[in-house]
Amino acid sequence: MGAIELMADALQQERGFDVEAIRADFPGLHQTVHGYPLVYLDNAASAQCPQVVIDAVSAHRAHDHSNVHRGVHELSERSTKAYEGARDALRRFLNAGHREEIVYTRGTTESLNLVAAAFAPTVLEPGDEILVSGMEHHSNIVPWQLVSERTGARVVAAPITAAGELDLEAWRRALNSRTKIVAITHVSNALGTINPVAQLTREAHAVGAYVVVDGAQAAPHLPIDVQAIDCDFYALSGHKMFGPTGIGALYGRQRLLEAMPPWQGGGEMILTVSFEKSTYNALPYKFEAGTPNITGAIGLGAAIAYLEGLDQTALQRHEADLLEYATARVLELEHVRIIGTARHKASVLSFVFDDIHAHDLGTILDQHGVAIRTGHHCAMPIMEFFGVPATARASFAFYNTREDIDRLMSGLIKARELFT
Ligand code: PMP
Repeated sequence: MGAIELMADALQQERGFDVEAIRADFPGLHQTVHGYPLVYLDNAASAQCPQVVIDAVSAHRAHDHSNVHRGVHELSERSTKAYEGARDALRRFLNAGHREEIVYTRGTTESLNLVAAAFAPTVLEPGDEILVSGMEHHSNIVPWQLVSERTGARVVAAPITAAGELDLEAWRRALNSRTKIVAITHVSNALGTINPVAQLTREAHAVGAYVVVDGAQAAPHLPIDVQAIDCDFYALSGHKMFGPTGIGALYGRQRLLEAMPPWQGGGEMILTVSFEKSTYNALPYKFEAGTPNITGAIGLGAAIAYLEGLDQTALQRHEADLLEYATARVLELEHVRIIGTARHKASVLSFVFDDIHAHDLGTILDQHGVAIRTGHHCAMPIMEFFGVPATARASFAFYNTREDIDRLMSGLIKARELFT
């Protein structure tokens, strides 16, 4: 057993799912904002870090700060061990078959850009299609537009329904022999919709398309199994799964990563360099040019250990209860519309008031110590579809409570009083 597995095991044995004990692990939750105890409901943007992540990051900074892979000295060996240990944790977390399939990136955005820039041009020809859904984050749209301009392929967006679900019939009509890449979010950040990615992957593979899954919002809430999904690529971000910012990962099917040309050139990604020709390093290093975010990776490894230490069934039950409770409570208010009412949803509640702009709601809530997100959530096509400029979005993590939602409600009631 590695250090991370041991930590996860110890945490799990220590307790089952006790929300107060869990909250005690997150120092960021215990502060006052504008004179009120903080209620943090902006987890879909960035989740708070548990103390074990903060400790892992600071211990590395304090004692092991050094470069990886290159040093023969003790500090570099410690750094390398912890950095590669975190890669093993990611492999386990995603249930990838091989550690070589886990490439560190800055996050989901960089992972998707890597696939679009290095893989997509190897399979796209003029007239080919890249199929995305109407509920994608900009980072799962724009990289495909960029590669379309380079290759003459076309981005096709399949519509969603009024509930914010994928319109499966329209999706199937859009999927055809010209479709070479399917890029789909596992969970929508603006709506909370959970997409049936394994089924979509099967159907995409049946027409010969490769499948790229944006897992940014799924990783903090759902068990992920890239082998069961059978996708070709899967992207995630550390800061949404209780780890540091500036670190994330791309899972890629080994055979495809092997065949892909490198993306960025520099140190670490090469075997030999001469002015005539350079040769490239083995996976995953071929895609990790330059000094990586070592501390970030170690922090992400600690976040995964923390997550693995929680009772996943209890965690999901708790989050489902929060979403159900929050939905029912927000619907008690007048002039409110929930944006995103899919049957299968993760912990996101987006809503609008007829008569109060989302930004005003966000500002009033902040004045009462409640942090939510307002805006287009980097998903402008969704806003356009629902005919709203912005939504207010409360997004939950396992450390939130019904009391947090009651505080959200008090803030919303205050906002209503102020605006009537
Ligand atoms: N996809 C989805 C669904 C997201 O929610 C986000 C972050 N809001 C991203 C991609 C981009 O992630 P990052 O900014 O960490 O690269």
